[in-house]
Amino acid sequence: MGVAIFKDKNIIIASHNKGKVSEIKDLLKPLKIKILSASNFSLQEPVENGVSFEENALIKSSYVSKNTGIPSLSDDSGICFSDLNNEPGIYSARWAGESKNFSLAMLKIHKSLKRISNPSYNCFFVCALSLCWPDGQNVTVSGRIDGKFSWPPKGNNGFGYDPIFKPLGQDKTFGEMDPKFKHSISHRAIAFNKLIDLCFPGLKC
Ligand code: IMP
Repeated sequence: MGVAIFKDKNIIIASHNKGKVSEIKDLLKPLKIKILSASNFSLQEPVENGVSFEENALIKSSYVSKNTGIPSLSDDSGICFSDLNNEPGIYSARWAGESKNFSLAMLKIHKSLKRISNPSYNCFFVCALSLCWPDGQNVTVSGRIDGKFSWPPKGNNGFGYDPIFKPLGQDKTFGEMDPKFKHSISHRAIAFNKLIDLCFPGLKC
């Protein structure tokens, strides 16, 4: 991981996931830079064949920045269950299948946990954020929030696995929380604060 200060006027969010794009836009709002989305460019999606969240994040940010000449910020994230050897992990999106059916993915987790004797229900979300410039220079950081599996799914806020994740110390799932509160404690917020410290000094409140 290198360290580089962000002095550019534009940034492209390297994601086609609407939930992630909207959360990242919210987090970037105070930065007063033009935020573009990868879906505004006719780019193919790179093959995410990394073995960690960080590797996959860098694959996405470097692909978009190299192909557009504009710095790019990507997010690779997912949920890991201790009782399932940290699955689905980097395959969190793929567990929802081609149709991105997260009700089905959550049910799959419920069924897998039912087969475990004495499950701990411990789980955590990880978010790796990678900011990459067209010359390949990049800063890649990650954040993690620990919690417990909660069943049945609750809440219509957020996206993906939010309805089955209850952060430690909270009595609501991510799906039930006010999005502003989720954004202040989430794995994404933790990673984002690290990125702000490294690349946008002076902006930290
Ligand atoms: P990818 O990073 O595009 O491979 O996708 C990660 C997947 O993890 C998403 O499609 C979501 O299902 C899930 N995920 C990541 N962050 C969150 C979150 O904050 N809430 C709920 N699900 C998430």
